Amino acid sequence: MPEPQRGDLVIRGGLVADAAHPLAEARDILVRDGVIVTIGPPGIAVPEGTAAFDASGLLLHPGLVNGHTHSHGFLGRGIGDRWTLELLLAASPWVSGGRTMDDIALSATIGAAELALKGCTAVLDMVGELPLPTEEGLDAVASAYDRVGLRAVIAPLVADRTLYQAIPPLAEALPGELREEVARLALPPWDRTFDALVRLVRGWRWSGRGIGFGLGPTIPTHCDDAFLRACARLAGEHGLPLTMHVAESKVQAVIGGRTYGRSLVRHLDALGLIGPRFIAAHAIWLDDEDRAILAARGASIIHNPSSNMKLGNGLFAMREALDAGITVGLGTDTCSCGDNLNMYEAMRLASLLSKVQGPDPAAWVSAEEAYRAGTEGSARALGLPGIGRIEEGALADIVFLDLGHPNWMPHRWTVNQLVHGEDGTAVRHVCVGGRFIVRDGRLTTVDLDSLRSKAEEHRQRHERATRHERALFERLAPIVARVGPALAAEPLSVRRYLSDRGPF
Ligand SMILES: [Zn+2]
Repeated sequence: MPEPQRGDLVIRGGLVADAAHPLAEARDILVRDGVIVTIGPPGIAVPEGTAAFDASGLLLHPGLVNGHTHSHGFLGRGIGDRWTLELLLAASPWVSGGRTMDDIALSATIGAAELALKGCTAVLDMVGELPLPTEEGLDAVASAYDRVGLRAVIAPLVADRTLYQAIPPLAEALPGELREEVARLALPPWDRTFDALVRLVRGWRWSGRGIGFGLGPTIPTHCDDAFLRACARLAGEHGLPLTMHVAESKVQAVIGGRTYGRSLVRHLDALGLIGPRFIAAHAIWLDDEDRAILAARGASIIHNPSSNMKLGNGLFAMREALDAGITVGLGTDTCSCGDNLNMYEAMRLASLLSKVQGPDPAAWVSAEEAYRAGTEGSARALGLPGIGRIEEGALADIVFLDLGHPNWMPHRWTVNQLVHGEDGTAVRHVCVGGRFIVRDGRLTTVDLDSLRSKAEEHRQRHERATRHERALFERLAPIVARVGPALAAEPLSVRRYLSDRGPF
């Protein structure tokens, strides 16, 4: 991440969003070494010679915090439609195959650029690298965030079982020659991957640049219990966030019940994984007891509304999660399922998805709750309490929206309009730690033209390099598309599909 603005900077005359007030009020903000040291009514006294930034006509809100994505998927934009999660996972050797180190960096840079332009200043990246996470690969990703200027938590996505090992009925449905093909996708034994994680955490050198390390054992049934226990110990020893996909699809919930004889959350809790640093991504297929466990342990959930809808994973029960006392943040997921990386859209969809679940407005997620989830909720989940708010002592991660944009005509109820009306098109400037990484709607840190030509070059190379993986996916797809929904048709006490509700 670029160095924070050194010395003092005073931001004068902007309106500052505050969920406690319907209409943002004018505030001056004094920033020193990247931290907000004073905030007050217009005209605050500042040391002589302080650089001033005129924010009149602009609305300031804290940088949005993306609690769940995968940078390896950013180059997979536009690749699939009508894919379930299981189809997406079956496609992943194709989608993310044929990658060089430069591609890994390019993928992360493109996503980081998009996030910055759309008002996001910090991200949790579960980045996958096969067969194992490497220092070189994670350095490529960290350098990309650093170059663009975002804060990040990088949690390498790891597993020791393939989709076909995790879902036995899927392997059983494959003809012999396909079973042999998928057997070649086998992952290294978990202790090798775990040793790599230990080396990586010990050698991590990006924390001083605003880029932390986390653990990302991907899906419970894709990881041996001993591996998960070891990850929990490592996270405890180093104070690391630990994030997993938990009950993202109904298939996962059904297979979890068959594998463990209890729910995924109860199983992870019995293994000792669930605590204040635990971040459950998606967490759609939970019951009341699962939520009570997450709440009692101080764990968090990251809700990814666009990905959940695109992959047909069902409706996340945000009201129930909030009422249980769980910290709820928001994420975009990646470009092969969430497509765009727009945290304004995540807030909007979190609100709207709640409002389609029943007729009682008292049970709906409010604009304020969606706004808090996309800012301080995600920040708390990621263990980054210094962001997600504009207040004294917080880091100066600030988005400046143009109130001259039609989105804000008229400006009546700030947070309501931030959640339901803003789509990122009014973003004028973005600063991280007091340093402007977007100025007048343009990135100051990377050149988009050069990224575009590299991305096109990659696409052509990728098509050639992954012919085999694509052909394999096309043979697997009809079987995965049949077995997944058959498993999802099994009765479960939790009902999260619209079609579970009976005839309309
Ligand atoms: Zn994910």
